[in-house]
Formats: sequence, C-alpha cells, structure tokens
Amino acid sequence: MADKQHAIIAGGGIGGLAAAVALSRAGWRVSVLERARALEETGAGIQLAPNATGVLNELGLLDLVMEVATTPENLRIRRASDGLELARFPLGVIAEARWGAPYAVIHRADLQKVLLERCAADPDITVETGAVVTGFADHAQGVEVAFQQDDVKRRIPCEALIGADGLRSTIRGLMGLGKTDAPIWSGRTAWRALVPLDQAPEGVRKLETTLWLGAKCHLVHYPLREGALINVVAITEDDWRGEEAKDLWTISGEPADVTPRFSGWHGDARKLVRAAPSWKRWPLFDRQPIRRWTQGRVALLGDAAHPMLPFYAQGAAQAIEDAGALGRAFKQFPEARSALGTYERARITRAAAVVTASRRQGSIYHMSGLLALARDLTMTSLSQHMLMARLDWLYNYKGQT
Ligand SMILES: Cc1cc2nc3c(=O)[nH]c(=O)nc-3n(C[C@H](O)[C@H](O)[C@H](O)COP(=O)(O)OP(=O)(O)OC[C@H]3O[C@@H](n4cnc5c(N)ncnc54)[C@H](O)[C@@H]3O)c2cc1C
Repeated sequence: MADKQHAIIAGGGIGGLAAAVALSRAGWRVSVLERARALEETGAGIQLAPNATGVLNELGLLDLVMEVATTPENLRIRRASDGLELARFPLGVIAEARWGAPYAVIHRADLQKVLLERCAADPDITVETGAVVTGFADHAQGVEVAFQQDDVKRRIPCEALIGADGLRSTIRGLMGLGKTDAPIWSGRTAWRALVPLDQAPEGVRKLETTLWLGAKCHLVHYPLREGALINVVAITEDDWRGEEAKDLWTISGEPADVTPRFSGWHGDARKLVRAAPSWKRWPLFDRQPIRRWTQGRVALLGDAAHPMLPFYAQGAAQAIEDAGALGRAFKQFPEARSALGTYERARITRAAAVVTASRRQGSIYHMSGLLALARDLTMTSLSQHMLMARLDWLYNYKGQT
C-alpha cells in the first residue's frame, strides 16, 4: 500500500484538532504542531450551535461530545432593566427537528478532551506540544514546515499545511496579505466566570441559555456539567485593549471592574454577576474578511482564517464547519492544491457572512435609548416561528457552499 500523504496542522485548538480528525478520515496522515506546552482549554464554556453539532456528527464525534455536553431547554432573551422576557426559543426541543442537529453547551476543556482522545486513539494523527511553527516554503514537490521545539529548530516535509493558529496566525502573516490585514479592536471586552450552582441566585438556576440585553453591555449565562456550574460571559464596551497580552484567556479581571456595570440591572443578573468568584478578561478583536485563504498547498482554518466577534457564538462553530469542508474536499481530491481550492470555495463566502453578521449583531445587542426600545418591541411582536426563521441561514448548514 502506498504511503499516506502527510498534512501538518499549525495549532491544536478546536479548529486544528477537528481538522486533524477530518483529514485522517479522508485518508491522510496528520501532524498537529501546537505552540503551548500543554493543551489546556481555560476559557470555560462554549455554545455548540446545530451547524456545529451537525458537522461533529459527520466527523463521528457527536456521540462523544454529547456524553459531556448539556442541552439547554430554551434560549431566553431578557431585558436588563426589568428582566422582561423579550423572546424564548425552545432549542432543546426543536433544534434537531428544525435544523437536523442539537443545540448544546459544553465546557471547553471537555470538548478539547474529546477531540484530543480521538486524535490520540488514531494511529494516523500525532499531536506535538511546545512546537512553534515559524515558517514554511511551498516547493514544487511539497511544503517544508519550519518549527521550533525545546530550543531546537526543525524542518519537516508534508504535502499540505493548514494554519489553524488562531487570531494572530503566523501562517496568515507569512502569506503576506499586507498591512491592512491586522486584527481590529472592537472596543469591547468579554468577561468570563464560572459560578457554582449553589452560589447562583434562584432565578437563574434553569436549564436555559439566557441572554440579557442592556445598554452598551450584554450578559449570557448557561449551565455546564449537568448544571453544577453556570458559565457567565459579560460583554462590555471598553477602551482597554490588552494588546500586549499573549495568552489571552488567562488575563484576570477584578470583580470591582465588572459588578458596577450591572448596578441598574434586574436582580437575577445583578446577583449572578456578584456571585462570580473571579473573572477572566478577553479583549475582542476580529479581522476583515479576506479574498484568499489558500496559497498553493497552504490554507487557513478557524480563527486564523475568519476571526469573528462572539455575538452569534459562532467562532468555533465556523472552525468546525471548516474542518468538515476540508475533510470533504480531501476525500474528493487526493491532490492538495485541488482539495484546498475546493475547500476555500466551499467556505469563504459563508464565513465572511458570519463575520459580518456577528459585528451587526453586536450593535443590535448593545443598543440604548429609543433604538433599544424599537428592538425590544420588534422582538416581542414577532412570533416564535418568525424569530427562529431568522436563524435558519446560520443553523441549517449541511456543508453546502
Ligand atoms: C468571549 C468568547 C466567547 C465565545 N463563545 C463561543 C461560543 O459560544 N461558540 C462558538 O462557536 N465560538 C465561540 N467563541 C469563539 C471561539 O472561542 C473561537 O472562534 C475558537 O476557539 C477558535 O478556534 P481555533 O482553533 O480556530 O483557534 P484557537 O482556539 O485560537 O487555537 C489556535 C491554536 O494555535 C496555537 N498556535 C498559535 N500560534 C502557533 C504557532 N505559531 N505554532 C503552533 N501553534 C500555534 C495556539 O496556542 C492555539 O492553541 C467565543 C469567543 C470568545 C472570545
């Protein structure tokens, strides 16, 4: 039997690990090179929308994920000032029927564990940590990837290189897209906390994802690990960029930085914010959509290709969609350049649409005054069916271009 072709993936985040599984299933041997010395997802919870769980199913991962995920019964939207319910989507019941796959929430560490265990059990996948990809050269015969591990500089050949190395992607930088291709500060910061259930106020102890809309600020919370924890994310407008910080999920925030912003909010939200034992702060950036994700045998994936603001909770979902598309393209075309061209065509328009929609959603969530009033009136006047129909384009994704 001929040797399998070899792909290198720079970055072992959710996107890189999902892509490793997809490429292995397409018959490739895969090396994941991850900069961090240990793979530890510290970012608490993540929502897995039906477009993501559908692809996880295609990759044979959904059953494993659902063993450790939680399925909230509803997604509820409440007004910050008085707690009024603006909308309720019974996602726990309708997601599979309407969009063909469940809506779930999961601790990032649990999702990463599932992906890592799947990679570890696969003889065609290796995951190297402490391996920083520094460069590549795309020759006629293949790609040579340069990386550094334990102060040793190494080069290895492969037939395809996937840059899944996040917002500040080295691979994207090496593609030479120019000075205008830089991360864009959104003027917003995400604050994240985990609250043990027994310390949370009674009004939020529900099997629900709740989104609170306030002026220039919103709050999302949902249960994790069978409801033992409540994952809380507050997004505020801010002028603190934290650009110098490299390891973003680990920047601590003081409760005193967060709690005053919720002083005029309904008691349920206010008490939940006050119950948070500690916070992590995460400055929010995205980048302008680009025209090309591929260059010969090299392609970008996940946040490296299309970092987005988290207002639709879609960054990881889009990385997972990328992985699914990559697998399909490599099954169809054994030659890397043809496969990567197909992958790019399948993904680039859709991902750009989600980047743009996520920005727009941020402006809608953070409205104040009359605009907020109009938004709230629209939400309360539309039927549940009409509100859910607005999500069809996003959630009803079956790998189509
Ligand atoms: C507040 C917030 C909430 C969010 N909530 C959701 C949500 O609910 N649902 C959702 O779908 N998405 C959500 N997202 C988005 C999601 O977290 C990201 O889009 C997703 O994690 C991106 O995965 P990735 O693998 O592409 O990149 P990353 O997770 O950034 O992984 C990149 C990896 O590459 C490694 N790396 C970097 N450079 C190199 C190099 N030179 N060599 C080797 N390795 C390298 C890094 O160490 C890292 O492990 C949220 C984001 C934020 C900020």
